[in-house]
Amino acid sequence: MTAQATQTRDHAVVIGLEVHVQLETATKLFCGCSTDTADDAPNTHTCPVCLGLPGALPVVNEAAVEAAVKVGKALDADIPEETRFHRKNYYYPDLPKNFQITQYDEPICQDGSLEIRVEGNRRTIDIERAHLEEDPGSLKHEGGAIDRAEYTMVDYNRAGMPLMEIVTEPDFRGPGEVRAFLAKLEEVLEYLGVFDAERDGSLRVDANISLVPAEEVGEDGSIGADALAAANRTEVKNISSHKGAEKALAYEVTRQRNAVQRGREIEQETRHWDEGRGVTVSMRSKEEEKDYRYFREADLPPLRVSGWKEEIPIPELPDARRKRFREEYGLSAEEASKLTSTKQVADFYEDLTAEFDPALAAAWVADRLLGELNYRDMPLDAVDREAFVRLLSLVDEDEITVKNAEEVVLRAMLDEGADPDTVVEREGLGKTGGDEVVEAVSEAIDENPDAVEDYHAGEDGALNFLVGQVMAATGGSADPGEVNQILREKLDD
Ligand code: ADP
Ligand code: ZN
Ligand code: MG
Repeated sequence: MTAQATQTRDHAVVIGLEVHVQLETATKLFCGCSTDTADDAPNTHTCPVCLGLPGALPVVNEAAVEAAVKVGKALDADIPEETRFHRKNYYYPDLPKNFQITQYDEPICQDGSLEIRVEGNRRTIDIERAHLEEDPGSLKHEGGAIDRAEYTMVDYNRAGMPLMEIVTEPDFRGPGEVRAFLAKLEEVLEYLGVFDAERDGSLRVDANISLVPAEEVGEDGSIGADALAAANRTEVKNISSHKGAEKALAYEVTRQRNAVQRGREIEQETRHWDEGRGVTVSMRSKEEEKDYRYFREADLPPLRVSGWKEEIPIPELPDARRKRFREEYGLSAEEASKLTSTKQVADFYEDLTAEFDPALAAAWVADRLLGELNYRDMPLDAVDREAFVRLLSLVDEDEITVKNAEEVVLRAMLDEGADPDTVVEREGLGKTGGDEVVEAVSEAIDENPDAVEDYHAGEDGALNFLVGQVMAATGGSADPGEVNQILREKLDD
């Protein structure tokens, strides 16, 4: 933000994020318990390791490390040869060992960045670090909120789930940028195949926010380390979506500005985002790093990824793919953006370009298929690829009209799982051509002398009227372009 905003306000908004994402692996981070817990009873996905029983030893999950390396590569981060795990000590019922295994001064990813676009401007957000850690269990407060509950139950199914904590530099200058960043991050993680946005609680955000006096903001928008350190900040917890982040931070900006205007100091504290009420509430004074007495996790050896990390591939990322789709297939920015919204859509489209004209395939996937799916709230998975290819062939070979292909065949495919040829046959959609059309044109001319006269008088609407008569006579199965052409030929004869 922005020289402009700082001119009209006394303070610049500064935000930095700590984002927890759950990595999609089959088993937990340090044991063999399955991560597929959604449909199961509490405490059924546990073992001595994730329950923290005495003598149980953790073993690091290779797939989680591989996923972390992919994230590091996608964020253009440094991945050191050797990284290490630490114990973060605190007491809480959801943490059976009384410490969380995490990474401290030797995280697996350091100094990365992610480019976002906000209102047409490119911004680079620097990533300080991204590390692996285990999730604690979860608490269920019976009878409502924590302060009103009669009792609380603990579920250790979540204990030991693999998380990655991604810590950004305080580079955000407003809630809108945070929202754009989180959306972009989710997109990249899904491309990597390491993240599922649909999984409950797979994204959790802690947002640090402060107001920095406008005179500390340089012309290029940068703020010195001293000014950042001097600013009192709050940490807003319990944010679980990009929309939620934007709302919570917008609220917090207003709250802090009001306090400053009244001459009150911002208290350095942790606040809780109450999604339902749309407010942040004070939770506790902010704990400091020294409170956690980090020390090395002696049960796990240092983790060496050199020699291996080079062999872990990552797919082409969304920005690069968008750019290539525009160049290689001549797509508009809007089409390229729709067709790369997920890796799955992009792969689906790109496979079609092997068989069809890229422009035809783009129009059918971006405009028609995605629109119809969206309307039905159906996933792309639900589309029978072979049937869709057949539909495009019917259009490509001019066997049915585009209108019938979309409004009848595609819809029947999605609604009833129908086979395209069966629908064409059943609904009599085979294109009427040749003699039948010529006959219908002659009839239309004979039966509508007024329209013919208007046509010759140069009235635009007359031809359309006649096309409409022919289309009606052929039950919509004639090709409007062909009808148009034959009509003109006859009328101009
Ligand atoms: P801590 O000592 O609280 O761990 P860090 O320097 O590690 O502080 O930063 C934690 C988070 O706070 C990071 O996401 C960082 O971007 C953010 N942060 C740092 N300074 C500020 C600030 N002045 N305003 C808002 N966020 C900040
Ligand atoms: Zn376990
Ligand atoms: Mg820190």
